[in-house]
Amino acid sequence: MSLHGNYDPQNIFAQIIRGEAPCYKLYEDDDVLAFLDLFPQSFGHTLVIPKRAAARNILDIDADNLCKLIRVAQHLAQVLVDELQPEGVQVAQFNGAPAGQTVFHIHMHIIPRFAGQGMGVHATSKADPTELEQLQARLVQRLRG
Ligand code: AMP
Repeated sequence: MSLHGNYDPQNIFAQIIRGEAPCYKLYEDDDVLAFLDLFPQSFGHTLVIPKRAAARNILDIDADNLCKLIRVAQHLAQVLVDELQPEGVQVAQFNGAPAGQTVFHIHMHIIPRFAGQGMGVHATSKADPTELEQLQARLVQRLRG
């Protein structure tokens, strides 16, 4: 069952944390990393992950790392709202394949929601790299602001 089992250190987010796979990084501290989703469900779709927790999901993670994760998720949600001015923002977290989880390293989704625009299908359409680079630059600038 995907809700249970051993943590796979070769999952794509673990590779990103180790610098073995690329990402459009927005934010990093000692404990948490945030980057753009490669298959965004809306403009600005961002992922926030713990760096020091080998946790598949919310059942596995220790409270300290979970608190650090949610604090950064809140900060990034504010930055996305300030920069992109969506009418809504969705914060989501999936546990186990039947719940929609596809990468088994715990993460928070921050998905800006724009009035009149539906949400893209989960983990399906790859974004244009130029668009992601430009968006990354905007958001990093706003984070520094
Ligand atoms: P979940 O389905 O909740 O496990 O979410 C995994 C998310 O990771 C999906 O929204 C995917 O689009 C996204 N994703 C998968 N691979 C990458 C990657 N290499 N870089 C950035 N986002 C990714």
